[in-house]
Amino acid sequence: MLNGNVLDGKALASKVRTEVKERVDAFISRHGRAPGLDVILVGENAASVVYTRNKEKAAKEVGIRGVLHTLAGATTEAELLKKIDQLNRDPNVDGILVQLPLPKHINEMRVLDAIDPGKDVDGFHPINAGLLSSGRPSLVPCTPMGCMRLLAEADVSLEGANAVVLGRSNIVGKPVAQLLLHKHATVTIAHSRTRDLPALCRTADVLVAAVGRAELVRRDWVKAGAVVIDVGINRVVREGKSVLVGDVLFEEVKEVARAITPVPGGVGPMTIAYLLSNTVDAAVARAAT
Ligand code: NDP
Repeated sequence: MLNGNVLDGKALASKVRTEVKERVDAFISRHGRAPGLDVILVGENAASVVYTRNKEKAAKEVGIRGVLHTLAGATTEAELLKKIDQLNRDPNVDGILVQLPLPKHINEMRVLDAIDPGKDVDGFHPINAGLLSSGRPSLVPCTPMGCMRLLAEADVSLEGANAVVLGRSNIVGKPVAQLLLHKHATVTIAHSRTRDLPALCRTADVLVAAVGRAELVRRDWVKAGAVVIDVGINRVVREGKSVLVGDVLFEEVKEVARAITPVPGGVGPMTIAYLLSNTVDAAVARAAT
């Protein structure tokens, strides 16, 4: 999926979805039901409405029973917890995803902690985070899974490589660092207090940028021949138009990187593909118990 030195996440995501579809078909013939993914949306955040519809649609396209539960913005935390409890108990539900952000009156951590870890297809539950950090099988956050598949596809040898991860969030930075470590990379996690970020980045054979700062990473931050995975999604205005850019200045860094993901069309499509893959993993694991 390398186009010159550009890693085509859209094409790779389509390949992953085909693989998922084959696994869904096999699951259906073996168990007589489709894997189920239930997505909960609270309120009407415009971006979240689009994301959740896309997730439901993507699930259905590969044969997963995708259900979108749209709850009013005034839904209380107790009502949401009750809904999660109901889905936790439903044997036909394999994956539960609560779309973030939640309205301010709801405690996000309490809600995410209420999801059955075996159905936690976002991989955000502390049990799954703990299993990942112990190197044990778990449901792993989708974006980091997508990043690792992109690296695998670019045939990047990670053993002994210097990997620098920009960002330490529980959703991207920390889990991607864990996965790189499991592949025997030497991993450094950088954040907003890191000193001399450009110099640190120049040591990287593999650079994963997940900071949410438009085009922070410039050409002179990147070692020639490095592989660059850009997780960032930032909306900026260019020549009067609203456009999406990553955390990496693509046109500059493309000149020096051995491989680089574009924004859009890089990590983004991989995230949703791995949500589907996690749903099948959860279904298979639950069916085996
Ligand atoms: P968070 O805001 O949770 O974390 C950002 C991290 O970047 C923090 O650790 C922060 O440091 C660090 N950071 C911020 N500014 C700087 C800086 N100037 N220099 C160094 N480090 C900095 O973001 P997420 O991890 O949730 O997301 C990161 C980006 O990835 C966003 O653009 C988001 O939209 C995108 N994203 C894309 C996805 C996809 O599917 N492609 C999925 C998820 C996210 P500190 O901890 O010190 O504050």
